[in-house]
Amino acid sequence: MDLILFGPPGAGKGTQAKRLTELLGTPQVSTGDMMRAERAKGSELGRKFDEFMSKGLLVPDALVLELFKQRLDQPDAKNGAIFDGYPRTVPQAEALDRLLAEAGRKVDLVASIEVGLPEMIERIALRRTCEACGQIYHLRYNPPPSPDRCSCGGKLVQRPDDTEEVVRKRYEEYLAKTAPLLDYYGKKGLVRAVDGVGSLDEVTARLKQVIGLTGPEVASRTKG
Ligand SMILES: [Zn+2]
Repeated sequence: MDLILFGPPGAGKGTQAKRLTELLGTPQVSTGDMMRAERAKGSELGRKFDEFMSKGLLVPDALVLELFKQRLDQPDAKNGAIFDGYPRTVPQAEALDRLLAEAGRKVDLVASIEVGLPEMIERIALRRTCEACGQIYHLRYNPPPSPDRCSCGGKLVQRPDDTEEVVRKRYEEYLAKTAPLLDYYGKKGLVRAVDGVGSLDEVTARLKQVIGLTGPEVASRTKG
């Protein structure tokens, strides 16, 4: 299954993507991670990325698509992938469609994790970051072992950019950027909204439902 995951920054999309990776047995493909890997390897593509990135320029879509093409051809991604942070524009979405079509594949589902702005603002007030290892906790939804200590022993702090103003701005940018994509995939009937309010486990359970992954408890209930 080729799945695209959308969600506002701070809604736990990265964590959910990792969980889905395990549940679906397909890799998460993130352009940032893949570009870093190519540059570290010093591959031909990596050197091309370097040319743009060292000048502070955006990497052209064509190069990013070349990267996807290579990645989706690898054995672990033959049966599907989870796209996180891509596409960001409608032309990128169209290009991804063409790329998948060449491999006889298509975007099967777009899961959009939805969290309202008031909830996002309340959420950051309860967010804590470990000074030592960078682990992020939420005092209600993903609580640390103690309110001011990480499991690594580091001190938990509130990040300076975790302010209402920053969250509001990021949220509005996200909505503006994502709306045309949700419209593009919505016309194809591929978008499923997932309520992102609740614990990580609750949101994972909703995603599983939307994707059609029925857990053992659901299976036994339908049997009984
Ligand atoms: Zn820590």
